[in-house]
Formats: sequence, C-alpha cells, structure tokens
Amino acid sequence: MKVIVAGGGIGGLVAALALRAKGFEVEVYEQVRELRPLGVVINLLPHATGVLHGLGLADALAAVAIDAQEYVFMNRHGQAILADPRGRRAGYEFPQYSIHRGELQMLLLEAATRALGADGVRCGMRLAAFDEAGGKVRARFVAPDGSPAGEAMGDVLVAADGIHSAARAAFYPGEGMPKWNGVTIWRGTSVGKPFLTGGSVVKAGNTSQKFICYAISKRHEARGEALINWVADLHTPERPYLTREDWNRSGRLEDFLPRFASWKFPWLDVPETIRRASAVYEFPMVDRDPVSRWSFGRATLLGDAAHPRYPIASNGATQAILDAQQLAASLSTIPDPVAALADYEARRIPPTAEIVRMNRQQGPDVILDLVEERAPQGFERIEDVVPRAELEAIVGRYKRAAGHQQTRST
Ligand SMILES: Cc1cc2nc3c(=O)[nH]c(=O)nc-3n(C[C@H](O)[C@H](O)[C@H](O)COP(=O)(O)OP(=O)(O)OC[C@H]3O[C@@H](n4cnc5c(N)ncnc54)[C@H](O)[C@@H]3O)c2cc1C
Repeated sequence: MKVIVAGGGIGGLVAALALRAKGFEVEVYEQVRELRPLGVVINLLPHATGVLHGLGLADALAAVAIDAQEYVFMNRHGQAILADPRGRRAGYEFPQYSIHRGELQMLLLEAATRALGADGVRCGMRLAAFDEAGGKVRARFVAPDGSPAGEAMGDVLVAADGIHSAARAAFYPGEGMPKWNGVTIWRGTSVGKPFLTGGSVVKAGNTSQKFICYAISKRHEARGEALINWVADLHTPERPYLTREDWNRSGRLEDFLPRFASWKFPWLDVPETIRRASAVYEFPMVDRDPVSRWSFGRATLLGDAAHPRYPIASNGATQAILDAQQLAASLSTIPDPVAALADYEARRIPPTAEIVRMNRQQGPDVILDLVEERAPQGFERIEDVVPRAELEAIVGRYKRAAGHQQTRST
C-alpha cells in the first residue's frame, strides 16, 4: 500500500517514519523549496518521546534535547505556586523533552531520508487538489510560484499540512481563518545562566499576562550556560488580528517589554532576559473549532491540520506524533484503507477535541488566575491560598486529557 503524505513538518515526517516502519511505501511532499531548521522550541511529552524512541531516535534526541524536570507555576511576583515533576523525574518511562523545533525537524528529515530513500521527501511541492478514482487517490501539486509541479497516485492521502491545511479547506470550505482569542505571544531565545533545576519549565503571572521560560539546548548546558526559550503572552484585544500567523514575523520590544519591566525574580531578571534576545517574534494565539470528521474516503488530516489548539501545555507536536502512531496502527491492522482511516479518526478526534476545549479554558494555567484572584499581592504560604490537593487535581485533569498516563511506569 502506498501512502502520500502532504507536509514535511513534525507530524508529516513522524507519520512517514511510523508508516514505513509498518512496511508501507511512503512519499512526502513539502511545499517549501528546502526544509530549514525554523521555529523556536517544541516540548515533547513522555508518550510522544516514547513513540520517537520506538522509531529508533532515542540517541539522536538525547544528544540535543533538554530533559524537562518540572513545570513550575508561579505568580507574577515569582513565588512558586506548584512544582509539578515531569518526565523521568515524575516516574514516566520516557523523558519529557524541550527541543529546538528546527533541530527536531532536521533529525526527523534525516531519518525519513534514510528510511524512504533520497527522493522520499520531495520539496517545492504544495498540495493543491486531490480526488479519488478506481480505488486510488490522486494528489496534484504546485510549485512555490503556483505553476503545476506534478501529481502522485496512492492508496491513501495524509494531509499533515499545518494550520492552513489545503485539504481541510477542501473538506470544510466555509471554515475561513483560525480564531484569535485576543492574546498576542512574543517569543525569543536568550543566552543566560541556568535557573532552578536547569530543566524547569516556568509559567509565571496570569492568563492575561504570562511569562514562560525554560532551557532548550544541551550544547549550552555543557558550557554551563542556558539557552533560554521565553514566551511573553499579553491580552491585547485592541491590536489588529495578525491575519495570517507566521512563525517568523518580527516583534517589537516596545509593544510588550514595558509591561514586564518590574518582573525581576531572584532566579531570573525577566526584562533583562527579554532584552538579550537575538531576535523576537510575535504570533496571535489562535485555534480552530474541533470538527467531527478528519477522514473522507481515502484522505485524512493529521496534526495541526486536524486539531490546531492554543499553544498551552506542550500539545502541538505531541498530539501530531500520537496521531502518526495511531494512523500507522490503524492502517496496518485494518486491511480496508477507508475503514482504517475511520478507525484512526474515531480514536484520535475525542482526545484532541478535548484538548482544544481545555486549552480554551487555559488548560492547567487556570491555576495562575485562581491564585492571582485570591492573593493578588502574593502570599506567605501557598497552602493558605489554595490547598495543594486542589492544584494537583487541576493539573491531573489536564494531564489525563493529554494522555500522560500512557507511559507511567511507576
Ligand atoms: C516554520 C514553523 C515554525 C514553527 N515553530 C514552532 C515553535 O517554535 N514552537 C511550537 O510550539 N510550534 C511551532 N510550530 C508549529 C508546530 O510545528 C506544530 O504545532 C506541531 O509540531 C504539529 O506539526 P504539524 O506537522 O501538524 O504542522 P507544522 O509543523 O505546521 O508542519 C506543516 C508542514 O506542512 C507544510 N505545508 C503546508 N501547506 C502545505 C501544502 N499545501 N502542501 C505541502 N506541504 C504543506 C508546511 O510548510 C510545514 O512544513 C512551527 C511550525 C512551522 C511551520
């Protein structure tokens, strides 16, 4: 059976590897002329890391990624509300990783090229249209300049073509642009000193003004430094909606830095860290409504094409990887591809739709608002503000929805 994958992002490349490992013939078609290490950072939850280990990538990942040790929720004064252990430290079988998205994509590309052959990933080919005839699916591609770039025939088409998916637009022509919740996200990376455990992922503030930071580079760690990925979220409904989110749109310090001027924590000077960034990018917080079908005949959606959600609590790449694993399992156990794609969506739509909905309620970050509301000026003992059991219950509910329990080893 031959599978055509449209999109050479994290989801498309992992799908290609997982399908190849099950013995399928796979071709990947990517719109850009050349895949380059773009983006900032991806967090891989333990169950996604487990899938990549199963594909033989354990050593390659360990060489570049940082083992996340804990999620620390803090108020805007830098006081710890809850430190939630993560990855192996929390008893999971596999690590939770913070990794540069570009590095992850390049190591997946290398693995896909090895597994599929030199022309297994074809660049400069954007999926433009597809149809079915005689038990096959035909995909048509255009070059970046819009000129025809050829077609491919296969038994199944997997559209892993991101939040602006061409296949999703064909299935849902009236859907339009992703939905913005009024929050603008500024992102950057800055070199600094390691903080807290060195593998701490910190979320400070509240859901209208939040600062997230963590180390992402093993190379820097080996030099005694930290390459700090930071994200500043501000509720800015007065700003115009950035009509097409672009992971490389430059942001301006004056639009957000003044709001963080007083955020100087004993372990990190936030304004200073922001000022040291080599580049700053901005992005609207967007998602799409969950849909009831991803699979139509021999074509299906995967990853952000299927379930784009707010980037809260590390589910972007993770859920795309879990989709890829399930797709390969369904196609390899159910002989009829149409029935297999129906099985895949039946298993993956409910959990991913739940994550979209929970992220609209801010996921586990509701903890931040709870504490801000009850103790806006800070606290002496967090137990006097919220019982630990209540905090753990909120985080636990989200973790169950995201599937963390799948790789619990203790
Ligand atoms: C350049 C870039 C940088 C990113 N940086 C970050 C980041 O720093 N942090 C983060 O959390 N998330 C980032 N993301 C999003 C993140 O990668 C995804 O949320 C997650 O990994 C799910 O991956 P995906 O494969 O479904 O989608 P994506 O990673 O978006 O990949 C989709 C791929 O499909 C290609 N494509 C799009 N349309 C077509 C078409 N019609 N035909 C063929 N190919 C097509 C795109 O060029 C892209 O390579 C980034 C995405 C991109 C594209």
